[in-house]
Amino acid sequence: MRLPTFRAAWLASLLLLSACATDHPASATASSTHATAAPAPVLLISIDGMGAGYLGRGDTPRLDALAAGGVRAQWMNPSYPAVTFPNHYTLVTGLRPDRHGIVHNSMRDPELGLFRLSDAKATGDSRWWDQATPIWVTAEQHGRRTAIWAWPGSGAPIQGVRPSQYRLFDGQIPFSTRAAEVAGWLTGPLAQRPALAALYVEDVDEQGHGFGPGSPQVRAALQQVDAVLGSLFDTLQAHGQLERTNIVIVSDHGMAQVMPGQVIAVEDMVSVEEAAIVSAGQVIGVSPNLGFEAVLDQRLPGRHDHYACWRKGELPARWHYGSNARIPPIVCQMDEGWDALPAAHAAQRRQLGQVRGSHGYDPALASMQASFIAHGPAFRPGTVLPAFDNVDVYPLLAHLLQLPPEPNQGTLATLQPGLKEPVAAP
Ligand code: AMP
Ligand code: ZN
Ligand code: ZN
Repeated sequence: MRLPTFRAAWLASLLLLSACATDHPASATASSTHATAAPAPVLLISIDGMGAGYLGRGDTPRLDALAAGGVRAQWMNPSYPAVTFPNHYTLVTGLRPDRHGIVHNSMRDPELGLFRLSDAKATGDSRWWDQATPIWVTAEQHGRRTAIWAWPGSGAPIQGVRPSQYRLFDGQIPFSTRAAEVAGWLTGPLAQRPALAALYVEDVDEQGHGFGPGSPQVRAALQQVDAVLGSLFDTLQAHGQLERTNIVIVSDHGMAQVMPGQVIAVEDMVSVEEAAIVSAGQVIGVSPNLGFEAVLDQRLPGRHDHYACWRKGELPARWHYGSNARIPPIVCQMDEGWDALPAAHAAQRRQLGQVRGSHGYDPALASMQASFIAHGPAFRPGTVLPAFDNVDVYPLLAHLLQLPPEPNQGTLATLQPGLKEPVAAP
């Protein structure tokens, strides 16, 4: 738990600024102006499913140019489970999914019932999100405007607070429209400009699922997303905002290739009579039915063909997963390149017989590695950072926005070599 040190670091930097103002009366005005001047706006962009290996291979000239003029990580480690909602909430809270409570895209809470991405009532219900405080809530609580394009959680009034501007997720709205809207937010009337804007796109993830990470469809989606981002950067440039904005581009996870036929039926793992399956796919959440607890507790934990299972309290420590009440009693993890689906769905998949892609595998696998690029006045051009965990993005965002970070599990130390100004040691 690094909160006390970060709060201390933040307080120390404030104290340092006020000390300067006191010690050097002649420069007091400049110092206090500096202390009170709004920090550069932050633009946070998520390109869902953009594995670290997708960059620098000719499909993303604008992103690669941005990285060359700023910072990129060799890769970024996703948190467990390597799926969309848990990792997006980690990026904006600095907490592992076990701690922030979005433990899977599909989950069950003892009191709230079921959560599914397709259930707008659940995704907009703050009770699912209230175990953590995302950066936009902290910003709003400090009187700063935020404008969020469908980042997971942004449709709910978390701790009673919504972004000043937000758009609910709508897969029908093309990325170019979303990006143009965000560009408008960042270049609009000064009084309404957000301190933090966020943008989300799922096209690369979708093509990755449909055709596999090495497919021409993924390359085409990457090229399109890159071109749209290029236009967004050009708009910022035309308004003199590009070099003034701290841009942080991330993905939530990578994508693994799934060969035809590499699918099993969840009913072959556990019968409908024995348990409810809370999540399927790659991380199978098993909630034994009354009377079947003991038999499943005996049978499931351990190695099986194409997967392994654990009791929730006994998952590998490096996954930081297994204490939240929303995690079912038994969790099964599929091997890379294998999926577990309801029998009917698995049969369809076998018939389809084509290469596709999945994520949600062990975050330590190269295929799950996420991307990180940052550019702007805070960043040291031409820096390539060694890999770091995605919990570290939150303290970076808090630092860029000059906000006191909430309790979190990240560290700014990994990002420090990419920052122009040294940050007080944690
Ligand atoms: P995953 O199943 O982990 O690959 O999740 C990716 C999918 O999540 C995307 O293709 C979108 O359809 C969906 N998605 C992303 N953001 C949201 C959101 N804010 N609300 C609902 N669904 C979303
Ligand atoms: Zn995703
Ligand atoms: Zn996906």
